[in-house]
Amino acid sequence: MRLDIHGGGCGHSCCLRVENLSVRIGADSILKDVNLHVHCGEMVALIGPNGAGKSTFLKAILGQREYEGIIAFSEPGQRSKKPRIGYVPQSPAFDPSDPVSVSDLFACCMSRRPAFLGLGKGMRETVLECLERVHGEDLIDKRVGTLSGGELQRVLLALALEPMPNILILDEPLSGVDVEGMETLMDMLDEIREVYDLSILMTTHDFSMLPRYADQVVLIDRGIKIQGSPEAVLSSEEFHQAFHLKGGKA
Ligand code: ADP
Ligand code: MG
Repeated sequence: MRLDIHGGGCGHSCCLRVENLSVRIGADSILKDVNLHVHCGEMVALIGPNGAGKSTFLKAILGQREYEGIIAFSEPGQRSKKPRIGYVPQSPAFDPSDPVSVSDLFACCMSRRPAFLGLGKGMRETVLECLERVHGEDLIDKRVGTLSGGELQRVLLALALEPMPNILILDEPLSGVDVEGMETLMDMLDEIREVYDLSILMTTHDFSMLPRYADQVVLIDRGIKIQGSPEAVLSSEEFHQAFHLKGGKA
């Protein structure tokens, strides 16, 4: 079911266009007939129970899962342009005793120098500029394993934003983050979205954030059950059924 928040057809320029997407793993149908348009500068939240296929959907967009259907990065009728996709994976676990620092992590991802040689000349400045985007300059010398959930997400976000992508994909960035950290992270994503006209596609189980930050919410459970404005989706029968909620508004 589609509660169209853009009026009749899709008259907007699309940054990401998914049509009739299906994913099978072995004999198992994980996703069936998924249709979704994400517009430039739009924040889209994917919600659904565990095992619904949310991460699989993101992986198909990232080219890490085989699929049937269309995943294009343009408007219908135009040739699909290859976008730069920034990806923040579901929080990886780092050992608190691991000596790897935030600057080491950037050195591994951004430079060809072995991390044990430290940051090259000028590179520290670049890393500080990247961390500045997430207000995290003070994290540069911290050990990754000692960061709080919110700090780690900000560091991973800073990595995903260099170079600046056209689309940013985040898999459950709010899990393991306390309420204060969630607001900080969502405010930051909102600011980055606006400043860079970035499209953001993220999965989350935190529904309280949706009305304030999401332009569009998509409820997935092996296929799209309902999509539309946060208010419409969160008060829908489909939402209550998917999460076994009894009556009332979310
Ligand atoms: P979600 O992110 O919504 O929790 P996933 O996309 O991770 O769900 O998984 C959807 C379904 O696909 C689950 O039933 C999961 O077991 C299955 N699945 C995901 N990845 C694999 C895989 N590599 N091999 C087999 N089954 C998988
Ligand atoms: Mg997942």
